[in-house]
Amino acid sequence: MKLNERGLLIVISGPSGVGKGTVRKALFERENHNLKYSVSMTTRKMREGEVEGKDYYFVSKEEFQKRIDEGKFLEHAEFVGNCYGTPLDKVNEQLDKGSEVVLEIEVEGAMQVKKKVPDCVLIFIVPPSKEALYERLKKRGTETEEVIQARIAKANREFKVAKYYDYIVVNDDVDNAADRIMAIIRAEHARTCRSISKYYDLIGESEE
Ligand code: 5GP
Repeated sequence: MKLNERGLLIVISGPSGVGKGTVRKALFERENHNLKYSVSMTTRKMREGEVEGKDYYFVSKEEFQKRIDEGKFLEHAEFVGNCYGTPLDKVNEQLDKGSEVVLEIEVEGAMQVKKKVPDCVLIFIVPPSKEALYERLKKRGTETEEVIQARIAKANREFKVAKYYDYIVVNDDVDNAADRIMAIIRAEHARTCRSISKYYDLIGESEE
């Protein structure tokens, strides 16, 4: 039985190349959960294999700015020359339905979410070593050397922000990392602050 009705807002960050996307996909392949992925909006060019509305909503810089002006983002940030943002209405809609909403976003945006939604759950994914991360970034082969270097520099800055997150998960193995995140979500649901009022309702007692 679930004692809290509004879903959890789960924010996953980690340096570029750590495998956040792969861990997130592994998480969504598990059964018996109520997770919804929040598809972000970006001004970045579509990569080969990406699908509009599934990986991102790809928009022009003008369209992105218009949405900022209209207050339509929960958070937004620039990352290596492109803009990324989380559409606010979709997140709220899913949380109100009781779904857990997962954001996979960079650190600046995550800190904005923490301010606006203090009871969100912040998870930082780290690689088993920095070398493993650099190798992954280079192997990906979807970016130019200049972009790879910019992403490595950005990753080095992002490591320093890990201390502001609620949990750190090492991506030594994708399934293990997804298991740990699932365990975090379950434990967060059982937190007293999230479920106490519903529990009192259930037993017909009032909070003293
Ligand atoms: P990529 O270009 O590799 O798809 O994403 C670059 C970075 O932007 C990644 O760290 C990714 O998690 C982050 N990102 C994706 N969507 C959003 C978003 O909506 N907001 C913010 N702040 N970052 C995002």
